[in-house]
Amino acid sequence: MSPTAVTRRGPSDVVGPGTDSPSSWGLGDGQAVPWEYAPAPESRDIVQLQARYGLFVGGKEIAPRSGQWFTTIDPATEEPLAEVARAGVDDVDHAVGVARRAFKRSWGDLPGRERAKYLFRIARILQERSREFAVLETLNGGKPIKESRDVDVPLAAAHFWYYAGWADKLEYAFPNRDPKPLGVAAQVIPWNFPLLMLAWKIAPALAAGNTVVLKPASSTPLSAMLFADVCRQADLPPGVVNIITGPGEIGLALVSHPDVDKVAFTGSTEVGKTIGRAIAGQDKALTLELGGKAANIVFDDAAIDQAIEGVVNGIFFNQGEVCCAGSRLFVQESIAEPFIERLKDRLSTLRVGDPMDKNTDVGAINNAAQLARIDEMIEAGTAEGADIYQPACDLPARGFFARPTLFTNVAQSSRIAQEEIFGPVLSVLTFRTPDEAIEKANNTAYGLSAGVWTEKGSRILSMVKKLRAGVVWANTFNRFDPTSPFGGYKESGYGREGGQHGLLAYLDLDGERH
Ligand code: NDP
Repeated sequence: MSPTAVTRRGPSDVVGPGTDSPSSWGLGDGQAVPWEYAPAPESRDIVQLQARYGLFVGGKEIAPRSGQWFTTIDPATEEPLAEVARAGVDDVDHAVGVARRAFKRSWGDLPGRERAKYLFRIARILQERSREFAVLETLNGGKPIKESRDVDVPLAAAHFWYYAGWADKLEYAFPNRDPKPLGVAAQVIPWNFPLLMLAWKIAPALAAGNTVVLKPASSTPLSAMLFADVCRQADLPPGVVNIITGPGEIGLALVSHPDVDKVAFTGSTEVGKTIGRAIAGQDKALTLELGGKAANIVFDDAAIDQAIEGVVNGIFFNQGEVCCAGSRLFVQESIAEPFIERLKDRLSTLRVGDPMDKNTDVGAINNAAQLARIDEMIEAGTAEGADIYQPACDLPARGFFARPTLFTNVAQSSRIAQEEIFGPVLSVLTFRTPDEAIEKANNTAYGLSAGVWTEKGSRILSMVKKLRAGVVWANTFNRFDPTSPFGGYKESGYGREGGQHGLLAYLDLDGERH
């Protein structure tokens, strides 16, 4: 899953009419071809927005009992897109009650092969409506259309395909055990991958026989509401999937509800801790997928071109708003200087701007608060003495945009090397030996992911063993697959999503809870 950022071709790559010689273009050696990309905007016509979206409870869209609504916007233009229900505590109670009844009356006892049919149906509909989902995800989230189109939506569908396959094979997944669903799952998700996080949560929960109440982030509720329409289209029994929108306090009321059996949260470490405290002492299963400060480690024998692309993908994919983003780059000292120069050159080719343009590499930051946080961290980096590099690029006059940023001369102790920024900001540090790389990479409160770039297989294996990170990519980065578990250590949370491990989080294997 590469952000496939566009590289402007040099003269020697250009095939001209009848010749490929730079001189025939009137250019000297090393001169860039003076062309620019024409705008290539994706049409938004495929998305039919409602003026208002209610709560999706019991298979129907209903007005919130709270009687309140809020506006959701396009972060690239700051224009309003629609009004969305602001659930109150009564709405939470109602949704959980509906999910409980659906669990008892239909879904919980439905044979796995029947549950699988619904999941397969959802996967197929997601694929059929993929363009609509991609456009909506970009409109409401700010991410480049080519990423929603090529990454978010296909991966979301892939999760439903994958878990559909497990629904009637749970006894084989966990032999000599007695796998049973937990009951009602409360799921709270963030704004960086709204549809994909929904799929990570809902697909395994349903495959295992649970019903769900999901709360999307306030800034990105629309793809979840479109997913509600997919549930209707798939004839999913009413109440199996319920979606409620509203602020963080509603998320807290949902996970704390006494009739919830399982809580799954993805978001900030701070809110993860709040949730952990809130449900401590309650008999609920809990998985937390929280923040990260991943190390991307480049050795001097790495394939440099690929490593440069991997580093760029690692931090600028989805504007760096990725929990597993490779936000700390460790380069072996012997190649640091030329590597950083090439990295800067590569940054200058990134196209920042309209997320709906198919050529855009870096879109809009999801919300104003997040942009303010990124700006604050950039200021902190400069104030702490690191050297800043930002390629020249014009940012759109409206909307929430941030320049791709690279810091060198970064101290291990500085905020930009320690805190999650969740934006397009890369901190570059150096190392001499593998042991030093390990020590520095592990010097963080987080432990979600890491990357290693080297030609030596034995070095990869030894690094993987010593890096304290849930996922380690070798000679690649930000690669996701529904069959592969994902999750962290330390302040990055606990529990795994994806793969067979992802099912485990939604199952009672020995009848302890029934
Ligand atoms: P949050 O953790 O606040 O939000 C994630 C989800 O939790 C949203 O649905 C949010 O609702 C909800 N929520 C907020 N407060 C509570 C609460 N007390 N109890 C239950 N649910 C709650 O992330 P932010 O959007 O505020 O981002 C802040 C920082 O978190 C970012 O700068 C980034 O560092 C990190 N982050 C990490 C993510 C990851 O994937 N690891 C994802 C998103 C953010 P609402 O949207 O309505 O506030």
